[in-house]
Amino acid sequence: MIISKTIGTTRKIIHEWKQQNAFLGLVPTMGFLHEGHVSLIREARKHNDKVVVSIFVNPTQFGPNEDFKNYPRNFHKDATLCEKEKVDMIFHPEVEEMYPEHTYTHVDVHQLGETLCGATRPGHFRGVCTVVSKLFNIVSPERAYFGEKDAQQLIIIKKLVQDLNLPIQIIPCPTVREENGLALSSRNSYLSPNEQLAALVIPKSLELAKERILHGETKAETIRSLMHENINKVPLATIDYVSIVDAQTLNPIEIIQGHVLLAVAVYIGKTRLIDNFQWQMEA
Ligand code: AMP
Repeated sequence: MIISKTIGTTRKIIHEWKQQNAFLGLVPTMGFLHEGHVSLIREARKHNDKVVVSIFVNPTQFGPNEDFKNYPRNFHKDATLCEKEKVDMIFHPEVEEMYPEHTYTHVDVHQLGETLCGATRPGHFRGVCTVVSKLFNIVSPERAYFGEKDAQQLIIIKKLVQDLNLPIQIIPCPTVREENGLALSSRNSYLSPNEQLAALVIPKSLELAKERILHGETKAETIRSLMHENINKVPLATIDYVSIVDAQTLNPIEIIQGHVLLAVAVYIGKTRLIDNFQWQMEA
């Protein structure tokens, strides 16, 4: 497995691979890898000749009061895991390599990037779209793998690729959960044992909503109130948002129909966690 820290080396190796007609799969990550990331890597391994995993904690997607400095990092453990999963190359640049002084260009997917997480984390998706565009340009993958856990991110990246005519297939991968239902996230490592228990209200309230919808509830407000009530019962939980939106436009909907995304962001203590489920209502 190659570990490349520079754009130049990465490009050189990828140029050689492309000359051998290799198909490339890219898995962009911020590291501190868990089984969720592994599921993306395995999917990429199945369908591509070469698999590149990028490990880069991207400063531009963190707000000034967010956890960029404290974000968990363990490159040695990540590299061991990638090696085990037969990754061909890890691209692991320093911040200065990705953002030299005087960079003025950004990629922004308007509207979709300004709602849900974008409303409480202004500039977050601009940072995500900029770094993902740079990674796409550096690695030139045929396919790139993203988790449904970050549903809004996935929708935005698909739009970015469509709007900019990038010849890259975006492959969505299902959310991997603990046995107790909690979606895996690098940020779960911040949770104390009490907070881990409190965090279970997130998947539980999503399950409750799912059940009610499957039993015929079509009013979004009823589902939203039910979830608010449920989450607010847990003292360590503070709701950032509970939203029921159209899964293409991300516009809020009143009646649950069509392709629907139910997305939540909840603080458990100081840790902000997100989760969601999506479904297509039968016409
Ligand atoms: P991150 O390192 O958190 O930026 O995540 C890198 C990629 O892994 C993103 O595409 C995430 O959506 C995906 N991912 C993170 N957690 C999970 C999970 N629990 N299940 C599936 N994919 C995930």
